[in-house]
Amino acid sequence: MEMRIGGKNVASPDDTWLEVKNPATGELIDRVPAGSAGDVAEAVEMAAAALTGWKKKGMRERGMILFHAAEKVREQHKDLARLLTAEQGKPLREAIDEVRGYANILEYYAGVSAQPAGEAVRLGASGDAFVVREPLGVCGAIIPWNMPVLIMGWKTGPALLAGNTLVLKPASTTPLTNLRLAEILDEAGLPPGVLNVVTGSGSVVGEALVKHPDIKKISFTGNCATGQRIRELASAHVKDLTLELGGSDPMIVMDDADIDKAVEGALRGRFYNAGQVCTAVKRLYIHDKIAGEFVQKLKARISALNVGNGLGPKTDMGPLNSARQRERIARMVDQTRERGDGTILTGGGVLRGKAYESGHFYHPTLVTDVAPDSCLVTDELFGPVLPVMTVPDLDAAIVAANTSRYGLGASVWTKNLHTTKRVFDEVQAGIIWVNRHLTVPPEVPFGGMGESGIGRENGYHAVDQYSRTRTLFLGW
Ligand code: NDP
Repeated sequence: MEMRIGGKNVASPDDTWLEVKNPATGELIDRVPAGSAGDVAEAVEMAAAALTGWKKKGMRERGMILFHAAEKVREQHKDLARLLTAEQGKPLREAIDEVRGYANILEYYAGVSAQPAGEAVRLGASGDAFVVREPLGVCGAIIPWNMPVLIMGWKTGPALLAGNTLVLKPASTTPLTNLRLAEILDEAGLPPGVLNVVTGSGSVVGEALVKHPDIKKISFTGNCATGQRIRELASAHVKDLTLELGGSDPMIVMDDADIDKAVEGALRGRFYNAGQVCTAVKRLYIHDKIAGEFVQKLKARISALNVGNGLGPKTDMGPLNSARQRERIARMVDQTRERGDGTILTGGGVLRGKAYESGHFYHPTLVTDVAPDSCLVTDELFGPVLPVMTVPDLDAAIVAANTSRYGLGASVWTKNLHTTKRVFDEVQAGIIWVNRHLTVPPEVPFGGMGESGIGRENGYHAVDQYSRTRTLFLGW
């Protein structure tokens, strides 16, 4: 596939390409241009040229284009989902969820367009003021590989609705569905240059985008260290930033919880997308009184997970997205084993056998009695490994939950309203779920505390994050 600049497909000018391989089989699916700083400059120029026309359209007109795009995405969701599974590895069922989630986001922002923007402020004798919102200008979006479609939606929906134009950089391992979606948005009526996609490496294309003086805002989702680097680079031009830098979400299960429901919550919360989700359950704290029964049931469910190619009809969990990600996870589990930092109840290694030899598969893994200073607890555990710890009471659970430097999400499983209130008041996280984990619908603002990042995505608030107020003060 080619890049998408100014509403056209653009090949690699100097004939350098990145290969996109299926993480389940190692097969080459396609190749995309290894873009350059020059390609970024061209895309920014196109986006700047498209800005005035796009800004002038009413919010409702922009919303209608997003709505048409959502219709097209729904019509083509099966093909898009197959492409997503092929490049990312997730089970087809999850890819379908994600593609439909993208359509949901566009529809949501089309609906937001019907809300009045701006306000009039009566100031008595000194006059009246009119406060309007206007777009920031050309924005940059940097997308990760774990949920490339959904996260493209979180950025494109509010940014485009607010009247900005965009240059988007997909992750190098998952650029294909992003490129296809950009084409669909153009077919739905986006004027050429409003949305541009430049493929290529983070160090070249990503950094060129962040450094470009005409980019007014960068929205980034990914690794904390990369986010810090982006923040440094962006400070040169005092750019606006939204940074979503991951999490280490705790799940707290109290002794009054519905155990079966919580077991299913932990299973889905941890192993969905092979654990490569920013809000996955990454630390499980169970009340002492129910820990034995809970762990036994959870182990049985984990051991029964069907791991394989995401396109297989019975696959519950696919491979990790890349060899690098699998090595990272394997290293963390090996270190835990070597240091005696936990007991591996099931899994704990790379899957062997013919069906797995060319893919990046890792066993769904359950580790109990995990030491609080184990790397499984202190680092972001971005894969199918669940560390479990027991707690004697709610006080201990809250203290443990707050030991992380991240603060993206957290869940508590209980029937007690008082417990719920305490967790909401005392656990440091942007979203607290009760008897649920993972779900992030477009209506709800999403973002973290601490090193999970800055800014919020989703909800109508996200439109504010892609616009600024200006005031007309009328002194009578
Ligand atoms: P990165 O943060 O490196 O990648 C995310 C995106 O940023 C990709 O598009 C990448 O491009 C781009 N990028 C990389 N370096 C730069 C740079 N210097 N300037 C601008 N853009 C850049 O994540 P990794 O792939 O290294 O993943 C490592 C870890 O990060 C995971 O194990 C996980 O812990 C965390 N992570 C968290 C995510 C979340 O949703 N919170 C998502 C992804 C990762 P390219 O692909 O070309 O390198």
